[in-house]
Amino acid sequence: MADCIFCKIVEKEIPATVVYEDSKVMAFLDVNPANKGHTLVIPKNHYETLGEVPDPTLAEISIVCKKVSKAVLKAVETTDFNIVQSNGEISGQVVPHVHFHIIPRFKNDGLTLGRLNRAPYSYGENEAKEVANSIRQAMME
Ligand code: 5GP
Ligand code: ZN
Repeated sequence: MADCIFCKIVEKEIPATVVYEDSKVMAFLDVNPANKGHTLVIPKNHYETLGEVPDPTLAEISIVCKKVSKAVLKAVETTDFNIVQSNGEISGQVVPHVHFHIIPRFKNDGLTLGRLNRAPYSYGENEAKEVANSIRQAMME
């Protein structure tokens, strides 16, 4: 869809640190992460909210969330995570292309539900690339 930032990422019109991609689903690091390793999983087709996603695609997204979350945990060396998925402006959805946040959690990280995707973590130089490499590596193991 024109003017959708995530469609532009799918089309490689704007850069993203992609950690997983197949014909229907893509996963990339959140540009404003709540925690190190914060990853977004999206369908490549444009759907605004969960209810619009065809069931087979949703099934594939779920499987990718499982696979990618395991790799994220390994890459950032933690055991716990949240999956956050917002629908509509009132819920806090900012990008109107359906997406699942995978947010690794660390003891005393200070995140609360209202701040899950709003408390910025800052990557050091090259750190995002290194984290993404570790996630991709962990998926091959
Ligand atoms: P929402 O609030 O819609 O659930 O979350 C949207 C997420 O997309 C936010 O966490 C935000 O940091 C992330 N985001 C917005 N624009 C971009 C972008 O251009 N690239 C990447 N990688 N993430 C983005
Ligand atoms: Zn889109």
